[in-house]
Amino acid sequence: MSRYMLFAAVLLLGGCLPVVCGAETVAAPIPPAFSGDRAMEWLERQCAIGPRPPGSAGIAALRAVIAAQADSLGLSYAELCFTAAIAGNDSTQRLCNLVISAGPPGGARLWLGAHYDTRPWCDRDPDPARRDEPLLGANDAASGVAVLLHLAELLAATAPPRGVDLIFFDGEDSGRAGEVSGFCVGSRHLAASWREFGSPLATGEPTGLIVLDMIGKAQLTVPQEGYSLRLAPAWTRAIFERAISLGLTAFEPQPGPAIYDDHVPFLQQGIQATDLIDFNFPQWHTTGDVPAVCAAASLEQVGKLVTDICYRPLD
Ligand SMILES: [Zn+2]
Repeated sequence: MSRYMLFAAVLLLGGCLPVVCGAETVAAPIPPAFSGDRAMEWLERQCAIGPRPPGSAGIAALRAVIAAQADSLGLSYAELCFTAAIAGNDSTQRLCNLVISAGPPGGARLWLGAHYDTRPWCDRDPDPARRDEPLLGANDAASGVAVLLHLAELLAATAPPRGVDLIFFDGEDSGRAGEVSGFCVGSRHLAASWREFGSPLATGEPTGLIVLDMIGKAQLTVPQEGYSLRLAPAWTRAIFERAISLGLTAFEPQPGPAIYDDHVPFLQQGIQATDLIDFNFPQWHTTGDVPAVCAAASLEQVGKLVTDICYRPLD
């Protein structure tokens, strides 16, 4: 085999041999290319379902799409369901967190999360007559789910060196303004129960969690979210250093606002967690949160970062 053929074989296999990669004795895989256009297709597909609030036909349809994606890729999939009170409903709801797992089982694992429910109301809409309408949620939160669904394709095609769990949270966005207890119902349940028997997460140990939320808007700017920076400073700085090293200009290593999101329950459990979020979004919780205000280029910035971290772990 000539040197050229060796390179070609390495590229074809999506891998890397020690002789090619220099002094390292352990081969580091080459991260596959993340496509913003492909992620955008996943964003649009979610929005084509319509609004996806907890307990709705829409979220059940999306759950079936996520399950089918895992099945078609040959990745393991689990639904972790429970009942909880949700704001705006008199009775309890059945909520389901979803987990797609890739790479080697058990051991140290990267957790990547996004909420797949959408808000039951557009309560910040400029038109008071439309504030009872359910949110379509292209950015909040189809964007994060879209990145994870495309990433699943890359993880299935090229196994990462360590296990990766893609976590889809239910019940994130049904709280009323100023009532923290109504938000992050799914992630709070999972943070308290992931070690329990039967949980696919119980067989491994997370190195850290990265949550993707509202990362789809055009002209994306992601600062260092406040809780992440205060409670997981080393993890958060490492993520942003990686982004800078990759030339991803959407990421600004400057302190941003503190936002109660799906990472906080895990920080409270002592798991290092970072929320990647651009909260400067004029269409937040309005009828204007539609695919037209999102951009493939934004999804690609975030997708490239988390893909790189899957194949070249931070620690
Ligand atoms: Zn929201």
